[in-house]
Amino acid sequence: MQQPVFIAAPTVTARLSRETVASLIAKLIAGGRVASKADVGRATGLSRTTIDAGVRALVEANAVRVSGLQPSPGRGRPAEVLVLNPDFGLILVADCGATVSRCGVFDIGQQRLGVRDIEIPIGVGPDAFLAEVVATFEEMLSELGLTAPARTTIIGLPGPVDYWGGTVVRPPIMPGWDGFPIVAGLRDALGGEVILENDVNLRALGEARSVPALRGPLLYVKVGSGIGMGIVGPDGLLVRGADGAAGDIGHIRVAGSEEPCLCGSSGCLEAVASIRAVGRALEVDHSGEAELVEEVVSRVRRRDPAATMIVKERAAIIGEAIVTTIQLLNPERIVIGGQLAAASDDLLAVIRSIVYSRALSLATRNLVVARPALGADSGMAGGLAVGIEATLSPEALVGRLRSAPSLAKQIEA
Ligand SMILES: [Zn+2]
Repeated sequence: MQQPVFIAAPTVTARLSRETVASLIAKLIAGGRVASKADVGRATGLSRTTIDAGVRALVEANAVRVSGLQPSPGRGRPAEVLVLNPDFGLILVADCGATVSRCGVFDIGQQRLGVRDIEIPIGVGPDAFLAEVVATFEEMLSELGLTAPARTTIIGLPGPVDYWGGTVVRPPIMPGWDGFPIVAGLRDALGGEVILENDVNLRALGEARSVPALRGPLLYVKVGSGIGMGIVGPDGLLVRGADGAAGDIGHIRVAGSEEPCLCGSSGCLEAVASIRAVGRALEVDHSGEAELVEEVVSRVRRRDPAATMIVKERAAIIGEAIVTTIQLLNPERIVIGGQLAAASDDLLAVIRSIVYSRALSLATRNLVVARPALGADSGMAGGLAVGIEATLSPEALVGRLRSAPSLAKQIEA
């Protein structure tokens, strides 16, 4: 007999756990999509009793509070306005680059409480690097007078991230980090939940979540010390692939190149068009990564003729690689970010011209190729989204709803 095929059907269940309902309501409130129980009803179709129970659980757990009344349009009673309690959780985001990292502290209401840049090369290795990140967060929290243990930390690193394993796998520009227990280490030091992401994934997510109605995929291409790409689907979720390696365009082979790459292979896009590669072509001689980046960026910024020529030449090669991804994914928006992109107008201009002349017109009809809308804060925004969603996930709410005072009584009874 012929092997039957799997028929896809949406997973729908009428038996929702209390945590699932509470999580759904909390996320709708967090996203500004609902303000009252009636809004939740309209948005979800859930019954009044279910919504009442979900809201009650969130209020008792201190996740949501009532903030005044909303005048009702008809003759009905005014509705209670529900808002997220900003004290319910802190989100710590570390967007780490090869030479500079940004640490941000937010409350769950998206209020930015503090942000600090630290200059430490990722090449110092995981122990020294993560100790610096932890010390920075501890200092920021103590200056802000925040001691609440409820916190979620998101760290973005510039290497192939094993999202599920909480580590990085043979990261080319991060010597000494292979297999290091990053998530476990940070959890011990900072407490709370810790989530590891690829840095470009966080930036892609931040950009995607700042576009209100994304219809197609968004790609974020980072051109810095390395080259990487993050992919967000039209559903607003990251495309990580089976192992977390989706979008790693830095190691796509450039035809005709034999340039050795830090990954051990040769002819990779990163070996040809990253800041390091431009520095090599310009014969910039520095032993330190930070000094090399600084000199290349400064020469590119002041439009030194040799630097401009090399950037234009290498931008064309990046453009060719991006054309391939356009044919595969038909994105709606491509964001070109990273330190080299920020320093050079030519890079974006050349990539645009290659993309619009080489990709099929159906794929470029509505395509936007732009700089990051959030500038250097894309990674912060992505981390914040990941952090809020994790804090309000059903799994994270289980314990916190259970420990709410009157619910505990109900369970005892
Ligand atoms: Zn490579």
